[in-house]
Amino acid sequence: MGLAIGSFLNVCIYRIPKKKFLAAHRSFCPDCNTSIKWYDNIPLLSYILLRGRCRACKAKISVCYPLVELLTGYVFVHLYYVFIQCRHESPCVFICYAVLCCALIIVTFVDLKLLIIPNEVTFVGIPLALVLSVICPSLHDAHHTLRNFSLVGIYRLDALIASILGIFVGGFLIFICGILGKLAFRKDAMGFGDVKLMAMIGGIVGWKLVLAIFFVAPFFGLLMAVPVLILKKSRMIPYGPFLSFATLVCIILQDYFIGIVNLYIQFFIVIFTGFN
Ligand SMILES: [Zn+2]
Repeated sequence: MGLAIGSFLNVCIYRIPKKKFLAAHRSFCPDCNTSIKWYDNIPLLSYILLRGRCRACKAKISVCYPLVELLTGYVFVHLYYVFIQCRHESPCVFICYAVLCCALIIVTFVDLKLLIIPNEVTFVGIPLALVLSVICPSLHDAHHTLRNFSLVGIYRLDALIASILGIFVGGFLIFICGILGKLAFRKDAMGFGDVKLMAMIGGIVGWKLVLAIFFVAPFFGLLMAVPVLILKKSRMIPYGPFLSFATLVCIILQDYFIGIVNLYIQFFIVIFTGFN
């Protein structure tokens, strides 16, 4: 399933930045415009059988296509293993995380290619996060997100509030970073696309985990940015892929990261009540 959905994600990655309607055409070769037969469109397998070339014009097919398929397949298997096999969560939770990861894979590859985070993903993703939180409220209870914020006590409404809180915390953190960066470097340091991306992520994972993602992502960013800055001498580095990778890591190791966030919260509570 992951491989097949990965194949669809390839279509999204190619067509969304070009504003092409997703279902408008069959898949075609971008070099010779020949439409691709179904037997040449089997995820991963077709790429291997055709040795990475178009059957009609022999143009090279980008290695990104099988890579996206393989990555999506891997992510699905890993999420299934963690949430269904090990944690026995409802399939609903697995589906919500899988949907989020699909959006993140699209964002990652579009951002790597074009240095933009497409609004088509985040503007659909943010309301979708709210809807998924209501449909699948257990998405938010493993986090004990609302232990201090249980305002209404209605299960689905609490999940919706948790999601809204996640959207605001996620968006706000990156927004503040952007403002501080602009003050420090006197030019745009953080795209507004990243703000919307973190809002979308927060809507699914809740405010505690989005806080962890915010602090984890720069470590991956730093690991990658140093070689890129030395080799390419480009000063523009897409941040979407790091936020996305940090999100995957934090979702899979969520007990660990939420534990750390809880420790910090207790620490600050002690400090503030201590002063009182
Ligand atoms: Zn071709």
